[in-house]
Amino acid sequence: MNEKPDIRHLNFDQLQNWVLENQLPKFRAQQIYDWLWLKNVASFDAMTNLPKTLRQQLAEHFEIKKIQTQIIQISKDKTIKCAMKLFDNNVVESVLIPTQTRATACVSSQVGCSLDCKFCATAQLERKRNLDYQEIYQQVYFIKELAKEKYHLNLTNIVYMGMGEPLLNYNNVMKSIEMITSSDGLGMSPQRITVSTSGIAKMIVKMADEQVKFNLALSLHSAIEEKRQQIMSISKSNTLDMLSNALNYFYEKTGIRPTLEYIMLYEFNDSIKDAEALVQFCKKVKSKVNLIEYNPIDHSPFQRTTKERLQNFTDYLQKKNIIVTVRRSRGQDIDAACGQLVNKNLLFAN
Ligand code: SF4
Repeated sequence: MNEKPDIRHLNFDQLQNWVLENQLPKFRAQQIYDWLWLKNVASFDAMTNLPKTLRQQLAEHFEIKKIQTQIIQISKDKTIKCAMKLFDNNVVESVLIPTQTRATACVSSQVGCSLDCKFCATAQLERKRNLDYQEIYQQVYFIKELAKEKYHLNLTNIVYMGMGEPLLNYNNVMKSIEMITSSDGLGMSPQRITVSTSGIAKMIVKMADEQVKFNLALSLHSAIEEKRQQIMSISKSNTLDMLSNALNYFYEKTGIRPTLEYIMLYEFNDSIKDAEALVQFCKKVKSKVNLIEYNPIDHSPFQRTTKERLQNFTDYLQKKNIIVTVRRSRGQDIDAACGQLVNKNLLFAN
């Protein structure tokens, strides 16, 4: 049996061509496109301003790949972890992180991850496949609706920091951002979007050449080569020099100052010697630093740093005029914090 194409894989021009080839009025293309992206409907029957015959015709030619979304847990700090069951029964997680005035969606870009960062729970899951751009888009859409329903908040920010390495699913990530920022989609500003990478230099250069308008975060976690290689094997083929060159090029081409993410691991990367190495790296790269509290995961040798060591590290950076923010971890009690997405509590058993 031939599989029907997913209608969301048609861009607007292709959809319009299909409409015209089928001797339908041209305006139907915009109506269908609005249902798919602006209203994110899951069936042709839901397209209520289309004639029934057209809805049947669409269903004969196309399908809308089904995604089921479910809230898994709500944290004491109001962070909400959600699971999305994809059409092939794979499950990814997305997180809503609210504050008084902001709502951030943290979305996944792959099912599992092929990398092996030692501090990350997702690394324990085998990479099964890349997410399609519409699957990424639907995570954002769902979190946007959830923020409105639960907390009366508009979605203000999106971070690609969930499961997977976004730059290893480059085309789908870029296309998802195109739809999220398009007026045919969610119409969000690219300045509200951050793509976080473990550090793939050639892909950072590619983004720079394409003059992207969203923010970039590099998971640095150590500015000492040997240490970084111990916790992130991707850094063996993407050295600190390669990354600093790529980040400088990114800044030169886009004018966007990258963020360096730095998880504070007790007695691993939290000494003054580590802080000094970070200062030296920052001298080479126009950047700002986020220090992140670590959330210990199962089977990890690392612990969270102490308040005192975090303070000393922060003070040292500030004295050297580095722009630094300490990020308190959100959603820890439900395993929704940075590096903790591992499909622990799957509700889609049946
Ligand atoms: S930190 Fe990111 S790139 Fe590294 S294993 Fe986890 S999901 Fe993959």
